[in-house]
Amino acid sequence: MIDARFYITIFRDTGQVKMVPISLFRRYGDHIAPDANDDLTLPFSVKRGSSGGMDLELFCVDCQKSHVFNLELKSLRKKGGNYIYCPQCQLELAFVGAKQDVAKVVDRRNREIEALVHEMGLDDYFKNPLVTYDMINYIHDMAESKKIYCECGSHDITATVNFDKIELFCKKCGSSYIINTRDKYDLERAKKARPIIIKQSESPDKLIKY
Ligand SMILES: [Zn+2]
Ligand SMILES: [Zn+2]
Repeated sequence: MIDARFYITIFRDTGQVKMVPISLFRRYGDHIAPDANDDLTLPFSVKRGSSGGMDLELFCVDCQKSHVFNLELKSLRKKGGNYIYCPQCQLELAFVGAKQDVAKVVDRRNREIEALVHEMGLDDYFKNPLVTYDMINYIHDMAESKKIYCECGSHDITATVNFDKIELFCKKCGSSYIINTRDKYDLERAKKARPIIIKQSESPDKLIKY
């Protein structure tokens, strides 16, 4: 039987990648989570092309622009799969293809990240180095897009990375916010909380006076 699905993985500079199935008979909008057991949203959209094929829209973090790629249905199932590059900056944006090809690429990427985490010596310092690594990148992205702030109104936030948590501090009033990094559920939970708002402490003055 023909599997009327193709698979996609989106490359981002934030840690591990995953494989997402796309059915040709469904429409996918912006910022959707096609994978039912995964709440993380993926920044792409897929729809039937007006002159056939599949229109895949991907966002390039380098150019800060989205690009539409029209893919022939035949090429989606091509043996060996397809890398998709940004037409402007040549950044690798995604890989699409049949299940086993995408699985291979996802597997290789994730092993590269594990090796990197290992090489950086993160194994010794963190309960879950991969989750910690992913979370650091995620917090960095959130901070860059101004999605971390304090109730006092300040965006001036600093972070300390600990064995099983990352603590965010408001530089202005000293309030703090803890994000656990024990396992992948902590990561999923953290990624659902958008924006991250640091609650003001009862007696914030104490923290900045020492
Ligand atoms: Zn680009
Ligand atoms: Zn504050």
